[in-house]
Amino acid sequence: MSFCDLALDCVTKLQPYVPGKPIEELERELGITNIVKLASNENPLGPSDKVLSAIAEASKEITRYPDGNGFTLKSALAEKYQLSIEQITLGNGSNDVLELIARAFVSPDEEVMFSQYAFAVYPLVTQAIGAKAVIAAARDYGHDLHAMSTLISDKTKLIFIANPNNPTGTHLPADELEAFIAQVSDKTLIVLDEAYVEYGDQDTNSISLLAKYPNLIITRTFSKAYGLAGLRVGYALSDPKIADILNRIRQPFNVNSLALVAATVALSDDAYIEKTKHHNDAGMKQLTAGFDTLGLSTIPSKGNFITVDVKRSGEEVFADLLRLGVIVRPVSNYGLPKHIRVSIGLESENQRLLDALGQCV
Ligand SMILES: *Cc1c(COP(=O)(O)O)cnc(C)c1O
Repeated sequence: MSFCDLALDCVTKLQPYVPGKPIEELERELGITNIVKLASNENPLGPSDKVLSAIAEASKEITRYPDGNGFTLKSALAEKYQLSIEQITLGNGSNDVLELIARAFVSPDEEVMFSQYAFAVYPLVTQAIGAKAVIAAARDYGHDLHAMSTLISDKTKLIFIANPNNPTGTHLPADELEAFIAQVSDKTLIVLDEAYVEYGDQDTNSISLLAKYPNLIITRTFSKAYGLAGLRVGYALSDPKIADILNRIRQPFNVNSLALVAATVALSDDAYIEKTKHHNDAGMKQLTAGFDTLGLSTIPSKGNFITVDVKRSGEEVFADLLRLGVIVRPVSNYGLPKHIRVSIGLESENQRLLDALGQCV
C-alpha cells in the first residue's frame, strides 16, 4: 500500500506549480556565472535602501512572533485606499489569499471560473479543493468577458480575473470590467487579481467598485512593483464580512515580521513606484523594439513582462537560452507552446536576452 493512495484524489492529480528557474540552480547545472534571470516578474531595481534598513532594524526582534493582526500594515493600506481596516486580509503573498478565498467559499460540488491562459494558480487552488474548473475561451489571448458571462451557472461560486493577466499581459478596460461585474449575481464572488496594477497607465479606480459590489474581492501584492517577492506579502480588499471569513481560516501568523515592516515602508514610497514604472516603460520599449527587429511578434502587455511568439518550440528556445545564461519562462503549460514570457529587466539584462535570442530564433 502506497501512502499516495491515502491522499485525496483531487490532490494526487495535482501538477505542482512550476516556478521560474533559480539562478543558483542554473549555476550548479552549467557551472557558469553572470546569469540573467528574466523569469518571475520581479522588480529588477531591487528593494529600496529605506526598505533594507527597516528590515535590518526589524531583524533584531525576530525572536518575537509577528503581530498576527498586521495592524500597522493594515492601517497604512486602509489610509492609502480610504477603506476601513476590517476590509483588509493580509497573506503570505497574494497567492496565500487566493487559496484562502477558494478554501473558505467553494465546496467540491461548485464551480470556479477563469479564462484560458489565466494565471496558473487559479486551476491549482480549484483542483486542490476538488471543485470543478470552468475555463472560458480567451479572445486575443485575454479575457473574453462575454464568453465568461455565458458560462455562469447556479454552481458558479467564484470567478478569477487577472487584470493585467499573467502570462499574457492583456488588460481589460475599466468600463468593460464594471459592466461584467454588475451583471454577476451576488451569489458569485469575483476575485480581481491586480498583481500588476502599479504598472498600468493610471492606478485604475477598481477600489471604488468595492462599495458598489460586496461580492468583489481585489487582491494585490508587494512581490512585483514593490520589489519584495522574497518576503511573501500580499493582501485582499473586500467587504468586511468576506475579510472576517478569510481571517478565520488563515494561519495566525501568516505574514512574517520582516515582511510586515518592509511592506509598510515600501507602501509609503511613491517615488520608488514612480521610478519602477518609468524603468519598466523604457524596458518595454527596448524589448518590443528588439523583438520587432528579430521579426518576432508580441502580445501587447500592461505588466512588467512580455510574451513573445518565438515561432518554434518555446521549451527548446528556453533550453537554448539557458545554455547562454539567460533564464526566461516557457509557457507551454499555459497552452502557449510557441511563446516564451520575458520579464523586463535592467537595460543590460534586456540586451543580453535580445542578443541571446538572436542566436536561437
Ligand atoms: C505574481 C502574481 C501573483 C502574486 O504572487 P505573490 O508573490 O504570491 O503575491 C498573483 N497573481 C498574478 C497574476 C501574478 O502574476
